[in-house]
Amino acid sequence: MYFVSACLVGENCRYDGNNSYSKRVTEFLSDKEYIAMCPEELGGLTTPRAPSSFIGGTGEDVLLGSAKIIDADKKERTREFIKGAERSLSAIRERGITHAILKERSPSCGVREVYLKGKRVEGMGVTAALFTRESIVILSDEEI
Ligand code: SF4
Repeated sequence: MYFVSACLVGENCRYDGNNSYSKRVTEFLSDKEYIAMCPEELGGLTTPRAPSSFIGGTGEDVLLGSAKIIDADKKERTREFIKGAERSLSAIRERGITHAILKERSPSCGVREVYLKGKRVEGMGVTAALFTRESIVILSDEEI
């Protein structure tokens, strides 16, 4: 069974109220069991919501307490992002899931790259970083 970023399978949970539907990911999952969740919604953020970005580091640094997340309205959202990652991890643990497919470059789900001060940089989103710390195998939607 897989955990998948809900926007990849068509749920309108992105910050702008749209989805990031991926035919490739949906076809890959067509003969597999999976759960589709949005860490940012699990963390209590609304949809639509102001887009968020990292300050001072990426997802790993947020977990270490040395970076934070601010949204476009200048509200700090670090707590919500961490809560969403923790709730996603709980959902995975409850079901014995070992693999996740996550949306590249999201501040929650990015696997190899995220945005820092508007620039693409190497690093993970907060949920991806927590999954990695907990030895979940994470795949970017772009490598499916
Ligand atoms: Fe998609 Fe993840 Fe962003 Fe939710 S947090 S909209 S699942 S990329």
